[in-house]
Amino acid sequence: MQQLCILGSTGSIGESTLDVVARHPDRLKVYALSAYSRMERLAAQAAQTQAAVVVVPTEDARQRFLEAWSAGGAAKPPEVRVGEQALAQTAAAPEVTSVMAAIVGAAGLPAAMAAAMAGKRILLANKEALVAAGGLFMKAVAQHGAQLLPIDSEHNAIFQCMPRNGSGLMEDPLSHGVRRLLLTASGGPFRATPLEQLDDVTPEQACAHPNWSMGRKISVDSATMLNKGLEVIEAYWLFSVQADAIEVVIHPQSMIHSMVEYTDGSILAQLGQPDMRTPIAYGLGFPERIDSGVGTFPLSGLARLDFQEPDLRRFPCLKLSFDALREGQVACIALNAANEVAVARFLDRKVRFTDIPRIISAVVEDAVSHAAGEPSSLEDVLALDRHFRTVARQRCPSRS
Ligand code: NAD
Ligand code: MG
Repeated sequence: MQQLCILGSTGSIGESTLDVVARHPDRLKVYALSAYSRMERLAAQAAQTQAAVVVVPTEDARQRFLEAWSAGGAAKPPEVRVGEQALAQTAAAPEVTSVMAAIVGAAGLPAAMAAAMAGKRILLANKEALVAAGGLFMKAVAQHGAQLLPIDSEHNAIFQCMPRNGSGLMEDPLSHGVRRLLLTASGGPFRATPLEQLDDVTPEQACAHPNWSMGRKISVDSATMLNKGLEVIEAYWLFSVQADAIEVVIHPQSMIHSMVEYTDGSILAQLGQPDMRTPIAYGLGFPERIDSGVGTFPLSGLARLDFQEPDLRRFPCLKLSFDALREGQVACIALNAANEVAVARFLDRKVRFTDIPRIISAVVEDAVSHAAGEPSSLEDVLALDRHFRTVARQRCPSRS
């Protein structure tokens, strides 16, 4: 029986995870849930899963949780823990066997790192944690015997297609027949929008992804394709391949979730419907396959599979990400922090869609010209993250 801690349970990945968990009461039990807002939803989830613990950000949120719990009429409430430290402690608690890391942004890093240092089985959706602290995170996983299972659909696909060493991956895949990783991208809602219209697109348009239903931040990231850039950096850390061996290909149907090309010319691909319950169930069941609730693949309805190269004029964020990866960890922290600030401002209608790459570019440039040493601890990473958020706020144009 796995005892789960679901970090970010009220989000899009959190909800999909609970949907899969409910199908397997014989093997999956929820020990703890966490959320930053929507306390009514958290209370309903806690009542349904009979979680022993919930973690909320503030005393005020705790009050709102308890009110929502009483209104639901259920018996004794779960233990309610408050704050970031409690979140990290809960992810590392001895009762927990597996942690779903599904908080959005670098805010999820400390708890994901705590899970790694406690040697948990980690289902990683929170890609920003790897972008901000890839080296430290992978080291903690290795040193503390944690098991890392990628949930991001592309990385889950690659994980399924990679050469294996028992149930784990080969350490150096490029010397075991892998030629390159092919990360597929849908191209998002603006794949074919005339370039001159991008200045005026709205948050609603940016969040209306053609194939996937996701949280708002990752939806905007998909529209700028910074999401694919974060995924390139994520793949670099997860699969030990150089940036030159990672290629992004636009595949508008989102049926192939990524591919691995081998030196003999073979390409292995993982296909499936665009439904995150598939990679989540893969992670929860690993190494077995379990039901995810996703139906039979409609093969006959699939007329064609298209592929095209990404246009870097349309998607400058993709190039910025490759550049940051080649530059090093500090540039990656700057890239992610600047993007989080810029996307939040765009969602608040304070900056334009096309300001997002400008802000990121200015902050990464600042990071490169004042090259700080590589961060050697979680505290270093968090301090750099805070610093680049401040720089990013200063670099945001004031439009209203
Ligand atoms: P979401 O916005 O729907 O949910 C985010 C969750 O994190 C919520 O439960 C929220 O309460 C919590 N949260 C937000 N800010 C927090 C903070 N500062 N501290 C603690 N908790 C906080 O996001 P999502 O779409 O579910 O994405 C979650 C992560 O998974 C992201 O890193 C995203 O890139 C990744 N991911 C998502 C998808 C998808 O289909 N949604 C696919 C691949 C990867
Ligand atoms: Mg993805």
